Amino acid sequence: MILLLKPGRLPAQHWIDAFAAKMPELEVRLWPDVGDRAEVARFPNLKFVALIAAGADRLLADPDIPPHLPIVRSINPEMALTMKAWVVYQVVRHHREMARYEADQAAHRWNRLAVVPPREVRIGVMGLGVLGGAAARALLDFGFDVAGWSRRGGSIEGIEDFIGPDGLRPFLTRSDILVSILPFTKDTEGVLDADAFAALPKGAYVINCGRGELVVEEDLKAALDSGHLLGAALDVFRTEPLPDDHPFWEHPLITMTPHNASTGSAWHAVDVVIENIRRCQAGEPLIATVDRAAGY
Ligand code: NDP
Repeated sequence: MILLLKPGRLPAQHWIDAFAAKMPELEVRLWPDVGDRAEVARFPNLKFVALIAAGADRLLADPDIPPHLPIVRSINPEMALTMKAWVVYQVVRHHREMARYEADQAAHRWNRLAVVPPREVRIGVMGLGVLGGAAARALLDFGFDVAGWSRRGGSIEGIEDFIGPDGLRPFLTRSDILVSILPFTKDTEGVLDADAFAALPKGAYVINCGRGELVVEEDLKAALDSGHLLGAALDVFRTEPLPDDHPFWEHPLITMTPHNASTGSAWHAVDVVIENIRRCQAGEPLIATVDRAAGY
């Protein structure tokens, strides 16, 4: 069995070392050495394509990936851990008014602000999958009033469930803090538009760490500029890296990170790939496959 590896953010050696330690018999070849990328469809024995980062949107849109070929998503416990820490940090930073305290410290001002009890803070998490579910549970542990919006409904105890297009508006109207951890699909593109922002309570805060394409960026800017939204924390953008002249860079109500909310090491990421290679060899069904029709 040969694995063709096209490394992403992590250096190739991390992947090579992890596969060598966990599946020494696997031959790993690096992508540029296997010929032209456009040739991919012509590998007659290709069994599946495994994502080594979360989010299947780019791969699903790649015309070089034959439609019959299974795509396996990345499952990496570190990604859920880092995502939930990033989300909790952004929520707490907003809820506990850390920007005010930073300004007060700079001005030598001792100014204790009243803290809204967490149970009175209504948080709406869009996407209750591997990452969104982990973040929603963590927020629940901090005592927030958490609801979730998903396509088919979740089963997370203690989290109020809103489902599909009909559930969107009632979900938004009760979200003081909106956390978006949705995949980018044909159904979620631009879901956070002017109508969605208008449905949020006045003074709501928006956090997006799913995909940039979920947000209509001009609509977000307008909702912030009008004073309807109090602020936004963004990790993902329609164009990445964010262009130098993009208005978000200098927007006083926007906090941003460079698509780094969730990260994971190769050591854990190889496990699902190895399990699927084993299944392939044993003629068993693959796990963690992407639903092409649903787009995630
Ligand atoms: P999952 O596939 O596990 O979960 C996706 C969730 O979104 C599910 O709850 C699903 O509903 C819901 N969903 C999908 N389509 C719709 C829709 N049309 N309407 C309502 N709900 C919908 O994904 P993960 O949790 O692993 O990851 C989510 C996304 O996070 C990734 O797709 C990627 O875009 C992004 N990401 C961002 C990173 C970062 O660093 N910023 C890093 C990694 C990923 P249901 O439960 O009903 O299926």
